[in-house]
Amino acid sequence: MKVAVIGGGIVGLFAAFHLERAGVEVTLYEEGKPGARSDHAAGIIEPANAYRTNTLAFLRRVWRFWWGGTCTFRSVDGRWLTESLRALERDLIPGADGALREMARTSVAGYEELAAQKNDFAYTRKGLLERYDHRGHFLEDRAIAMSKDSTVPVEVREEEGWAGSLFYPSVGWLHTEQFVQRMLRELTRTDIVRQRVDHVGLDGTLRMGGTRANFDAIVVSTGVTSRKLGLPLTGVKGYGWHVRSRAKVEVATIFVDRGIAVVPFENDLKVTGGWDFDLSARLSHAPKILAAVKEVLPVDRIDRFGDGSRPCTPDGLPIVGRKGRLIIANGGFRLGWSFAPALGKHAALLCTNRTPNDPFLSRYCGSLHAGPV
Ligand SMILES: Cc1cc2nc3c(=O)[nH]c(=O)nc-3n(C[C@H](O)[C@H](O)[C@H](O)COP(=O)(O)OP(=O)(O)OC[C@H]3O[C@@H](n4cnc5c(N)ncnc54)[C@H](O)[C@@H]3O)c2cc1C
Repeated sequence: MKVAVIGGGIVGLFAAFHLERAGVEVTLYEEGKPGARSDHAAGIIEPANAYRTNTLAFLRRVWRFWWGGTCTFRSVDGRWLTESLRALERDLIPGADGALREMARTSVAGYEELAAQKNDFAYTRKGLLERYDHRGHFLEDRAIAMSKDSTVPVEVREEEGWAGSLFYPSVGWLHTEQFVQRMLRELTRTDIVRQRVDHVGLDGTLRMGGTRANFDAIVVSTGVTSRKLGLPLTGVKGYGWHVRSRAKVEVATIFVDRGIAVVPFENDLKVTGGWDFDLSARLSHAPKILAAVKEVLPVDRIDRFGDGSRPCTPDGLPIVGRKGRLIIANGGFRLGWSFAPALGKHAALLCTNRTPNDPFLSRYCGSLHAGPV
């Protein structure tokens, strides 16, 4: 069996990994450097903390980010906007929570298995601290975190200088750049082709640079560009830096009201931020985000910068499903790394016909059509 994976972001890398494990002949097409559009992320692995975006609470959060300068609005996908408004405050279909819980379990187990073989990507589960500037926001999130629907252990902390803090002891993090290198070492039999794919068909054909190729199945994991195939997706851009700082940071920390994450490693810190609803390649907001980082942390030196986009569905939750010979694995939004192992695994199972479409995870896949990516 021959399968093409288009897009070598974190989701595409996991799809290729699981297909290779299943004995499939895999060609991975990536227009740039594999992982380079994903590795700006903080690398916090918290799939059980997924929240819906089609809620008034989320709109309030975005408004607060905009008010505080974290968020900008420049362009969104029109279909995503229409579907988001239509889905506002609408409950997920029955079975959705179970499917998401299973995805969360599979993803954490996926990282733990790789770390148990060799932890060459700084994976650790020392917990996540969330700090709030505003008491009202803290109380709102505390109520959600401690509600009977939440399965994630949480402790409430009072820290001087903050309106409140929540600590999630079971959350982990990893070094994204090192993890991409690990995946590339794992993919020993995958043919990695540095090439932009122009067009895909439901019949398993793809076109690129004037040539055509046929596959038994095609996994499309191109992030935000998959919207051109009929998916309601938009991109929420953000930025990541590896920095040196004299500050002592013990655990991954999110400054919730500022949309900034700080993750500690042996020699440096990863800092991320920015919520730009923007489908362009513009980076003009990044310096302002770095200035906001410096308000919570002294930055002595910047070693590396990266940017990327959170692919967001109308409800902010992942999609993985099949139509014809096309399989979509997408929509990780703010938790693309957290869900990537499960998205890649499910995509591989769909390719090899070892599982049917899940009614929730494959929502929106009915509207898939042939098109550019
Ligand atoms: C600031 C920030 C911090 C984040 N922190 C976290 C975090 O801590 N934890 C977490 O779980 N998630 C985090 N995320 C979210 C996560 O980074 C994304 O959800 C994830 O990168 C999406 O991965 P992807 O593989 O779906 O898409 P992408 O990363 O966008 O990868 C798509 C790939 O497809 C390639 N491609 C596109 N079109 C074509 C084509 N036509 N032909 C060939 N190749 C193509 C692109 O070059 C790219 O490499 C963060 C996001 C941001 C912005």
